[in-house]
Amino acid sequence: MASCTRNTLIAVDHHTTIHEVGEGGVQAVCSCGWRGPVFGADKTAGTMDPLQRAADAGDLHEWEMSLR
Ligand SMILES: [Zn+2]
Repeated sequence: MASCTRNTLIAVDHHTTIHEVGEGGVQAVCSCGWRGPVFGADKTAGTMDPLQRAADAGDLHEWEMSLR
């Protein structure tokens, strides 16, 4: 809590971080309690990096919340 380096363009309190879940799964979790879908636990993700997909989901959530 000592530092705040997130994007200052987003004024609302939505800050997502990537958590590992299960066996090889990754998920974006927001400070508001929102959780994104789990990526990477199964192998259906194709060529995209599960970490990148989880981060994208988190970014999308932050962006959507910033519009309200
Ligand atoms: Zn949020």
